[in-house]
Amino acid sequence: MKQQPVLELQQLSHVYVNEKGASLAIEKIELAVSRGEFISLVGPSGCGKTTVLSLLAGLFPPTKGQVLLNGEQVTAPSPKVGYMLQQDYLFPWRTIRDNAAVGLEISGGKNARALEAVDALLEEVGLPGAGSRYPHELSGGMRQRVALARTLATEPEVLLLDEPFSALDLHIKLQLEDLVHQMLKRLGKTAVLVTHDLAEAAAMSDRVIVLGRNPGRIRRELEISEGIRRATPMAARKHPGFQELFEQLWAELDAEDDEGGGSDG
Ligand code: ADP
Ligand code: MG
Repeated sequence: MKQQPVLELQQLSHVYVNEKGASLAIEKIELAVSRGEFISLVGPSGCGKTTVLSLLAGLFPPTKGQVLLNGEQVTAPSPKVGYMLQQDYLFPWRTIRDNAAVGLEISGGKNARALEAVDALLEEVGLPGAGSRYPHELSGGMRQRVALARTLATEPEVLLLDEPFSALDLHIKLQLEDLVHQMLKRLGKTAVLVTHDLAEAAAMSDRVIVLGRNPGRIRRELEISEGIRRATPMAARKHPGFQELFEQLWAELDAEDDEGGGSDG
């Protein structure tokens, strides 16, 4: 029996309307994501990556089409979907433990057992014993680790990752890619990563979706080979097939540029 996809985007289109008029941001995006799958969305600035994530998160309804989560239409944000962004949005006046527990507090699940789970998560993300410290005492990479623990604390099924590593130094970024990859695979989470870093997309994903713009649509889907998939993101970069994969993605984006997808986003 074929398993039902966790996420389904059906003929998803979105038009933004504001005082300047209406603009078609994405058009007829059709995509299914299986349980435990890690996919990346790449494409030029303005091609609708953040719009797609917002629709997956149920932040606003699509103009046309629908998003299904476990077969049910998404109409509002759900605790089953966690979001991690480039900025960590930690509250400076709260301890690390209380920051990591913020989602639990909102969902009413903050009890002694949940707090123990938060401490275990902080340990797992590489911050053992940091619970009573404050965000200003932590480096950018450590803060993003707290954001990861916060996202996982509410036990979402799906993680939406919007450029979560792009503000970090390369070395820290590679470490965090490995950490996120390893944790999400171990926990069997489904993930959708948005990134402008093609190597990151290739190294972390099971499948890479290349979007074109004006309007945003799927240009190409690339299944990542078993060998690269099984490797950690750091090791994947050294895999014999990696360079070719990278060049394929690069060529796809170049072709998109040449077709001159309209104004620069
Ligand atoms: P990406 O994340 O790929 O850079 P976005 O999803 O942010 O792309 O934007 C897709 C398109 O929709 C762009 O042309 C952008 O200018 C437009 N857009 C995004 N958000 C809004 C908004 N709130 N109002 C009007 N237009 C928007
Ligand atoms: Mg964006």
